[in-house]
Amino acid sequence: MKKQVLDLAIIGSGLSALNFADEYSKNGKKINIISYKDEKPLTKNNNGKFKYLPTQMRGKTNNVKNYFYGNNLVIEDDCKVLGSLDFGGLSNYWGLQLDGYINNDQNINKKIFSSIEKHFFKFLKKYNLIGSYLNDKFIYKKDFIIPNEFERLIKNKGSNFNCKKPMLGFFNQSKFKGELNIVNESKNKLNSENFFKTIKNKRQIIFHNYYVSNISKEKDCFKLQCKNKNKEKKIFAKKLVLASGTIATTKLVADYLNYGKEIKIKHHPRLLSVFFSKKIIKFKLNFTPSIFQIISNSNKDCYSADIRPGNKLITESIVEAFPFLKPIKFIFNLLRHRTIFSNILLDTKYSNIFLRKNGQKFRLYCKQSDVKNIFKKKIKNIFKFLFKKKIIFPFYYSIFPGFGADYHYFGSIPFNGKGRLSVDKYCRLKGSKNIYVVDSSVFNFKTNKYPLGITIANARRIGEHLAKI
Ligand SMILES: Cc1cc2nc3c(=O)[nH]c(=O)nc-3n(C[C@H](O)[C@H](O)[C@H](O)COP(=O)(O)OP(=O)(O)OC[C@H]3O[C@@H](n4cnc5c(N)ncnc54)[C@H](O)[C@@H]3O)c2cc1C
Repeated sequence: MKKQVLDLAIIGSGLSALNFADEYSKNGKKINIISYKDEKPLTKNNNGKFKYLPTQMRGKTNNVKNYFYGNNLVIEDDCKVLGSLDFGGLSNYWGLQLDGYINNDQNINKKIFSSIEKHFFKFLKKYNLIGSYLNDKFIYKKDFIIPNEFERLIKNKGSNFNCKKPMLGFFNQSKFKGELNIVNESKNKLNSENFFKTIKNKRQIIFHNYYVSNISKEKDCFKLQCKNKNKEKKIFAKKLVLASGTIATTKLVADYLNYGKEIKIKHHPRLLSVFFSKKIIKFKLNFTPSIFQIISNSNKDCYSADIRPGNKLITESIVEAFPFLKPIKFIFNLLRHRTIFSNILLDTKYSNIFLRKNGQKFRLYCKQSDVKNIFKKKIKNIFKFLFKKKIIFPFYYSIFPGFGADYHYFGSIPFNGKGRLSVDKYCRLKGSKNIYVVDSSVFNFKTNKYPLGITIANARRIGEHLAKI
C-alpha cells in the first residue's frame, strides 16, 4: 500500500498549536493535528510524584503522569516542572493573565518584531480580550475595574516600580463594561477547548489521537512514530510544526538531532506570597486572575510581582493539600476577601532547569542555587512598597514552591541562537529544512512575564507565513 504523506503536521493542541492552525487554514487549507486525549493512565508504573498540582489542575494527575511517561522524561525530585498530555495541555490551566506590553528582549529584527506585535493586536481585537494594550501606533482598550487603591498606583508610580494592569484571558462578553464579576468563567475563558469551539466550524482540522514518541527523516519527509494506549502508528509529513510546549518540543528536537549536550530551559523562578489587605477586596469569581502587576524598572534585574485576590478555588486547594485544615476552612473563607496572593517572578538569569539525554530517556534536573536569598530581597522590596502605599498590614507569608513551579518554560531553541538548537526568523530549525517551532521555545521572556500572549501572536505569524508558501 502506498504510504500517505501529509503536507503539514502539527504536534500539540495547546493555544500555540490552535492559533497556528487558525491562521494556516483560514483560506480553506486542511490541517492535521497530532495530540493525545485520554485521561486513563498510560502505564501502571507511573510513580507517585506531582501530589500538589496548581489550583487550576486539580484532578489532572493522570494527564501529568502521562505527559512524562509519553515523552520519556525522567524528572528529579527537586525539579518541579509540569506538563499535561491532553487536549489543550497547560493551555487549559493557565492563570489567565497576559502582558499588556511587548518587549523585544532578543533583538529580533524590527520587521519581524512588529509583525509579532501586529498579530498580538489583531488577536486581542478578534477575540475581544479584556484589558488595554498601548504603544505608539496601536491602542486597544477594553478596560476592567480594579480596587481604587491599586488604580491610583498606576497613575502615581513608585520610584522602583512601574504598576500596570495585565490583559486578561477572557473573551467575547457582549455586555462587558469593566465589571469582572459578570464574566462567565467557564464559557468565556481563553483556553484550548473554548478557542477550538470558535474555530472548528470554520476550519478543516483533522485530529490524530496519538502522542509523538520519535521523529526521524525518511527521504524527503518526516516519519513520526505515534502512540496511544493501545496502538502504534507511523505518520508521514512533508512539513512539521512543533507546538508541544517547550519541554516536549525541546526533547523531540534534541532526540531528532541526536543532541547529547545539556540544554538550559529558561523560566521565571517564582515565590508565592500571601499578604493581608487593609481593605476588603470583593471578587466573586471562582478563580480570580491577577489584576495588577508591579514591575521593577531595572533593566539588569527584571522581576515582577502580581496581585491576585483570594478566591474560592484557592481555599479549596489549600484544604485539599493540607486536610488537617478542614475544620478551619470557614476561617479561610471569612478571610478570603482580605487575602492577597502574589507571585514574584524573577528575571530569566536565575533560570535553573536543565534537560539532557540519558540513554533512551531525557533527564530534567536543577542545580544548587541561592535563589532563596535573592527572593528574600525581592519580597522585602515588594512588601515595603505595598505597606508604604497603605495597601497591606505589616506581615506576610512566603513560600518557594521549587524550580519549575512557575510553569513558564521557554528559550531552549531561540531566535538568533548559535548552533543546531536555534531557529531563523520564520521559526525554522536552523540547518533542518521544513521543521518549525511555534511555541515558547523560541523566546527569551526577560522583561515580559506572561509568555502566552506573545507565543500565540508568533504562532499566528508563522501560520500566516507557511500558508503562503
Ligand atoms: C497553572 C499555570 C498557570 C499559568 N499562568 C499563566 C499566565 O497567567 N500567563 C501566561 O502567559 N502563561 C501562563 N502559564 C503558562 C501557559 O500555560 C503556557 O505558556 C501555555 O500553555 C503554552 O502553550 P503551548 O500551546 O505552547 O503549550 P501547552 O499548552 O503545554 O500545549 C502543549 C500541547 O502539546 C501536547 N503534547 C505534549 N507532548 C506531546 C507529544 N509527545 N506528542 C503530541 N502532543 C504532545 C499536549 O498534550 C498539549 O496539547 C501558566 C501555566 C500553568 C500550568
